[in-house]
Amino acid sequence: MPDVGRFAPSTTGPAHPGTLLAALLGWLDQRSGGGRILLRLEDLDPERCTPGLATGMLADLAWFGLDWDCTTTQSELAEQHARALDRLAELGRLYPSGVGRAGLQAGGRRAPDGGWAYDNHERERPLPPGGWRACVEPVRARLDDGPIAVRDGSGADLIQDPAQAFGDPVVRRRDGAVAYHLAVVVDDAAAGVTRVVRGRDLASATATQVALQRILGLPTPTYRHHLLLLEERGRKHAKFHGAVGVPALRAHYDALALCGFLAWCAGLQATAAPCRPRDLVADFAWARVRTADLVVRWDGARLSAGESA
Ligand code: GLU
Repeated sequence: MPDVGRFAPSTTGPAHPGTLLAALLGWLDQRSGGGRILLRLEDLDPERCTPGLATGMLADLAWFGLDWDCTTTQSELAEQHARALDRLAELGRLYPSGVGRAGLQAGGRRAPDGGWAYDNHERERPLPPGGWRACVEPVRARLDDGPIAVRDGSGADLIQDPAQAFGDPVVRRRDGAVAYHLAVVVDDAAAGVTRVVRGRDLASATATQVALQRILGLPTPTYRHHLLLLEERGRKHAKFHGAVGVPALRAHYDALALCGFLAWCAGLQATAAPCRPRDLVADFAWARVRTADLVVRWDGARLSAGESA
């Protein structure tokens, strides 16, 4: 059976160069191996996602030269999300959780992604009459305690005890939106995804997602996490989000020039010579992809990249 990969950007803002790099690497992973590559627009956050951002994302990816075997929009998959919540409820895994950000912070324990860990102290709370649909608080899913062993495609060891490291995940938010970990696991399984390629910032989320797959009896895909493009924020580095988005970049770069720059960033070309994604398919191999993150700078007209100090 050929592999199935996916690129799953959140449409909470415009695409940025790191979005295109992630899209390019996931696309090359499948286009070079004869598999299928799906695009899933993750638009479940009602406060931040707008139809205009989804349309803009589609346009920027097409402009860049990427094509997809199938495109889905996560908000149209609500039925499969509801079925998964029903299943978790049947299994006795769901409970309401009133702890907000301030409560987590007061707990004072850091999670691997730099956020605050939750201590699972509400596990015994019952759902209200009417179940998760009637719950006005966030709903969490009780994970099994203990380590989940996962190895990244690059060989990196992602072993983690997610119930301890992060705490039980929120699976339904206070506003009723299905939360990221559950949606991603359910949608990948429903689409038959066998390979997940995504940025290193999500590596620490993998064990929680595998734990949910095991509870729901869903298969676990293989995972590969790649380099990130960073920007300087004071003396720290953050994901390259703020400096410039793709819609603004398009006034300064044509698609071939931007693809050449990103291919050079990723180690797929010795120079930033203009190219199209399809020019990179024949020689693509993960062994050639740079592993270390890169700091990218935007001077208002051109992008440049260098090692982080
Ligand atoms: N939608 C997530 C993001 O844009 C990625 C989901 C995933 O690849 O697991 O950060």
